[in-house]
Amino acid sequence: MQTHKKISLLWKNLAGFALGLIFGFMLSFGENEWPCIKNYILPFLDLIGKIFLRLLTMLIVPLVFSSITAGAASVGDMKKLGRIGIKTLAFYLVTTAVAVIIGLFFGNAFSFGANINIDSNFQALPQKMIPLSDVVLNIFPVNPFASMVNANMLQIIIFALLFGTACVMAGEQGKKIAYACECVAQVMYSFTKIVMSLAPYGIFALISVTACNFGFLIIAPFIKVISAVYLGCIIHAVLVYSVIVMIFCKRSPFWYFNGIKETIITAFVTRSSSGTLPVTLDNVRNNFGVSEGVSSFVLPLGATINMDGTALYQGVCVLFTAQAFGIDLTFGTQLNIILTAALASIGTAGIPGAGVIMLTMILQSAGLPVEGIALLAGIDVILDAARTCLNTMGDTAVCAAVASSEGEKLSQ
Ligand code: ASP
Repeated sequence: MQTHKKISLLWKNLAGFALGLIFGFMLSFGENEWPCIKNYILPFLDLIGKIFLRLLTMLIVPLVFSSITAGAASVGDMKKLGRIGIKTLAFYLVTTAVAVIIGLFFGNAFSFGANINIDSNFQALPQKMIPLSDVVLNIFPVNPFASMVNANMLQIIIFALLFGTACVMAGEQGKKIAYACECVAQVMYSFTKIVMSLAPYGIFALISVTACNFGFLIIAPFIKVISAVYLGCIIHAVLVYSVIVMIFCKRSPFWYFNGIKETIITAFVTRSSSGTLPVTLDNVRNNFGVSEGVSSFVLPLGATINMDGTALYQGVCVLFTAQAFGIDLTFGTQLNIILTAALASIGTAGIPGAGVIMLTMILQSAGLPVEGIALLAGIDVILDAARTCLNTMGDTAVCAAVASSEGEKLSQ
């Protein structure tokens, strides 16, 4: 019954996606003839899409806080948490570096050409370089309630981990609090189900608006960049994640991709790894059989710092900009880009369009004109959909691998 329900929701989501695409393109053709499309239909669809996004986003803070606290309390042992943390970070860093390399490879392989018009009026936002010590300091909250109000995920994760561990140390009283957090987490999972039952409509609305705003014509000059990013993401997913799953989980790539179908669709339409987190948690637990302890630590952390898709996109876009401006990038500069892009992707928030802001920093550090962003900002929605998919997929593969390395028995 449960599986049947899940399959039908997945089909509904796919139907919402396909119908939204067709409807959006139809609207783009009639947009100029029928003013009601611009005045009523598009704003209405936009509203529905935004409500769906808000509902998903609304879940994140209570879900992450309660599930990490309950998870940390159930692991109960700082040594084990530390071990899981180190493994997770190692996986995240290596996969991100590979992603930038794949991005640079596709950027080199596709010759984008230098014949694209540059909008010289474009003013990139000046980027302040934040000192590394401040970056580290900012991970630690001053006031955990302020962190929650501002949805500062890293601060929430740090507070929840310590709070969960303190619950164990506090004995009987602490157990009660940990149990209460577990109950809140359970309620939040049910809450997620309510929101996800609305997904087909939200997906339909979001995709129709995007498809209408991006007729085929806008895409044409950028078809090479779009192909490079999409191909890079597919190759990264198929090569890197399949290998991780085969080696560390002893499972087939089919098992992996089949288990995260909903995550992929949700990431694609919401363009937010943080917004997709409730679905990612659900898929990894129910389809892979990963424990709450591991998943509630690895996934929220991944949604915040692990951005393989963003890193790959940055590799492609740096080369695109260099070629558009006729600048040759030396091997040394490309190595520098790998490092900067990997670090920048860690600092990218899991929200729509965040990657394009980080790109400014990478272009600057590679000595490239930030005006390149003007070219790419127009099609960012399309690139963001692909990179967000990869961002969330990377978290799920690493989560399964870490769980398996901790001796958890994954589902077949
Ligand atoms: N939208 C991406 C995410 O949420 C971040 C980005 O813009 O690269 O994962």
